[in-house]
Amino acid sequence: MERRDSSLIEEYFHIALFSMEIGMHPKIPTYSGGLGVLAGDILRSCADLNVPLVAVTLASNKGYLSQYLNEEGNQTEGSMCWRIQDFATLMTPKVSVPIAGRAVKVQAWKYLITGLEGHQVPVYLLDTDLFENSDSDREITSYLYGGDLSYRLSQEIVLGIGGVRMLAALGHTDIRKYHLNEGHSALAVVELAKEIKKNSPNLSAGQIEELVRHKCVFTTHTPIPAGHDIFSVDLVKSLLKGYCDEAEIDTICYKDELNMTLLALEHSGHINGVAKRHEEISRNMFPGYPIDSITNGVHHVFWTSKPFRRLYDKHTSGWRKDSFNLRYVMSIPLEEIVQAHREAKRMLIDLVNTKHHIGMDYDTCTVGFARRMARYKRPHLLFSNPDRLVSITKNSGPIQVIIAGKAHPKDTLGKELIKSIFAAMKRLETDIKIVFLENYDMELAQFITSGVDVWLNTPKIPCEASGTSGMKACLNGVPSLSVLDGWWVEGCVEGVTGWAIETKVANVCELEMDDSEEAESLYRKLEQVVLPMFYTDREKWAQIMRYAIAFNGSFFNSHRMVLQYLLNAYFAE
Ligand SMILES: *Cc1c(COP(=O)(O)O)cnc(C)c1O
Repeated sequence: MERRDSSLIEEYFHIALFSMEIGMHPKIPTYSGGLGVLAGDILRSCADLNVPLVAVTLASNKGYLSQYLNEEGNQTEGSMCWRIQDFATLMTPKVSVPIAGRAVKVQAWKYLITGLEGHQVPVYLLDTDLFENSDSDREITSYLYGGDLSYRLSQEIVLGIGGVRMLAALGHTDIRKYHLNEGHSALAVVELAKEIKKNSPNLSAGQIEELVRHKCVFTTHTPIPAGHDIFSVDLVKSLLKGYCDEAEIDTICYKDELNMTLLALEHSGHINGVAKRHEEISRNMFPGYPIDSITNGVHHVFWTSKPFRRLYDKHTSGWRKDSFNLRYVMSIPLEEIVQAHREAKRMLIDLVNTKHHIGMDYDTCTVGFARRMARYKRPHLLFSNPDRLVSITKNSGPIQVIIAGKAHPKDTLGKELIKSIFAAMKRLETDIKIVFLENYDMELAQFITSGVDVWLNTPKIPCEASGTSGMKACLNGVPSLSVLDGWWVEGCVEGVTGWAIETKVANVCELEMDDSEEAESLYRKLEQVVLPMFYTDREKWAQIMRYAIAFNGSFFNSHRMVLQYLLNAYFAE
């Protein structure tokens, strides 16, 4: 189909999505994990569905990090420079943002995401690496989640305030809603209020607040208290001096600190969590705010492996544009589903064996676990009782395990977890083949989520807002074995779409815990249900694969999610 000239339709763009990280393309390292990959999936779906949306993020010219692991599992990091000019076009307008009394210049690069029918979603990458700026200001947009709190607040000034200014400078004057994807960009509400005040000096403060609220949509992404940015009032004063006067600082700071989540909650007309369960938890965390939920999804074509894409093209044409068609995967013969998965598994096992010479085979039940190595995700849970794990494989059949994930450079606990997994690997060496793949990224995620047999997820409830990698797995006929948290509360039909690991009930995310009971619950499910079915009831197993796609793949995708954002947030009023 003919490509549209996007310069002609720019004036009709209405929605602006702000996100600190966006996984735009596997080769562009401007994301660290689920939040950024999700933002990328939203944009890919908007492009396919012809949704008029523009996105704003930081250039992150030095990326997130590349991970190196030594034999003990000690992680060291390198930066991940990428050439922005190879992917994006430099735009002419420049804006400045106020940081500590300086006017820091910001430029923008445009990266285009093109949908199925040629519709393009522009992503503007804000960049302070300009010769007009001081050396340290040039670095503000270099490192995703790098630096100290002052660096982070500077980045958030560029994103929130700079983002609003840049959109205006680029001619996007007709924005219907500003979607703040997580609190990092919440300063946009302050800039919007100032802009309204400048244009309509006669409005009262209350009327301005009302207008801002009408313009803003906020999505909160984590129940973990430490996941919400908080800055001291002193830091805020020093970085925003000349931009906010004392009274304005007082109105954005609650209890002597600037909490970006509260700022966004206070000024957004539509607020949502990212799964039903997360809505409940967020309402408890932030009482008094009308928090709704729109359950996450993943871009179904992007996350479907080639063998399954071929299969869906053959049987359910139209699935690429209209993901609800995946419902009709129920009519695909089981043998064809099993065959497509066998091909995806072969690709993964070949990749693992080429990298690690570990001799994994195509027939052994392969368990996958890959995500950021954060404490609440408990990546070590499977290995917490190595002897028990060995006895399970003796009783119910062998397993092989594929793991991957980066720890944030400052997350010492996360790094310890990687080391503890390496220690367990060593201990289990003679009994179970386990591999830890370095440098987890979107490309590796495509291989792992589609190539394993079971997708394992063991967060501490209720700390996982949604989780999305299990959704990637189900599009590829890979059922989850997971704690009932996040999306799995909605997606799990026991023994039909996968299996639940039973846990104690909890309504607050607390990390201090004794994991042994939950580990035992995982072991029991694996030993008594999952492995026996894998090795002795192939028909039943294949049915589960098909239900995972038809029930869950057809719903937990970003096309459905974007339609819900349109319905409930962007065009709700
Ligand atoms: C999908 C994805 C994630 C998110 O995984 P969770 O299931 O939310 O833990 C993280 N990193 C990468 C590279 C991904 O592709």
